[in-house]
Amino acid sequence: MAEAPTTALLGLSLQELTRVAQEAGQPAYRGRQLFKAIYRQKVNSPQEISSLPQGFRSQLIAQGFSVGRPRIESQFRSRDGTLRYLIGLADGQSVETVWMPRGDGGEAGDGSEAGRELETEARKQKNRATICVSSQVGCALDCQFCLTALLGIKRNLTAGEIVGQIAVVFEERQVSLPRDRVNLVFMGMGEPFLNYENFLRAVRLLVEGVGLAESRMTVSTAGVVPRIYDLGRETVRPKLAISLNAPNDRLRSQLMPINRKWNLAALMRAAREFPLRNRERLTFEYVLFDQRNDSAGHARELVELIRGTRSKVNLIALNPGPGIALETPAEARVLAFQRILIDAGVPTFIRRPRGRDIFAACGQLKRTLELEAS
Ligand code: SAH
Repeated sequence: MAEAPTTALLGLSLQELTRVAQEAGQPAYRGRQLFKAIYRQKVNSPQEISSLPQGFRSQLIAQGFSVGRPRIESQFRSRDGTLRYLIGLADGQSVETVWMPRGDGGEAGDGSEAGRELETEARKQKNRATICVSSQVGCALDCQFCLTALLGIKRNLTAGEIVGQIAVVFEERQVSLPRDRVNLVFMGMGEPFLNYENFLRAVRLLVEGVGLAESRMTVSTAGVVPRIYDLGRETVRPKLAISLNAPNDRLRSQLMPINRKWNLAALMRAAREFPLRNRERLTFEYVLFDQRNDSAGHARELVELIRGTRSKVNLIALNPGPGIALETPAEARVLAFQRILIDAGVPTFIRRPRGRDIFAACGQLKRTLELEAS
């Protein structure tokens, strides 16, 4: 028997939850109790919200409200401590969320018995990690190096589904804020700026409900230029990262078809006009492909392209995958590329590939599972 459709509370704002309470004949402060329970406590059903009177809990259920948390369908652990979650949504679709421990904490876990014990020890201390969340099921952009692109676009995530990924992973990892230092990146599956309203709504709920600081969040775009201007006008917003991946239009249009709609001149104008806060920097991401965009000449072109911006560059060697016709450069090429940027005064970091043994690059897990199933 199919379950009756429900309305998810997860995704509703404080104002909306207050209205739900008032329409049920409850005082307004019940709305704030609901808000706290939904975003700060690990409740799976209105029945579990012990701060609310029993009558109101039953009423919520009778009116068809559910909490609407997604489920962790499966979980993969990399030797480097990266955890990859496949998160199941109410309609049977799924997305990936990745947890990357940093420094002393969870990286002790190497999957061995001893490693697990070490990890349990580490967890009693601070969680230091970055969580990478998805904004869409699949993606429409067709970047030539990205595995999510091969899935095509299925649909946008709701704000509740975006926040839900964080809620279930935080629960599983026993995250407690503000004690733990968790950064969040919108760099999972999908293009956040093609689901702008829900993405931004999720950001507000994360700040007001979950308690994650906006300064700890970064959104990455392939270059949806009008939304870069929109983001600059928001009062509550994450930091901005732009996936460049090529230093000229000819190459970028081959690798990222979105460049045919908004070219580098338009993209860099938006980047230059983006209103940065005190001490804030833009991030330019640059995936290196062997012999395609990773020569000394490309590095010098990149320096010229971003000259005068207050920014840093993150380099990452391609995470290869089935169906991707590009190759990963050797370490020496990555270092030589970085050296040119650094010598030109550009702060440049190499992002360590994480969880390669569990296919932890953009869209890789889901894509790999699909291939195994077919
Ligand atoms: N659509 C957004 C966010 C998702 S992709 C964007 O394009 O920025 C997040 C980052 O992963 C981007 O910087 C993208 O260039 C990078 N990426 C995608 N596929 C990759 C791969 N196979 N190896 C390494 N990085 C990849």
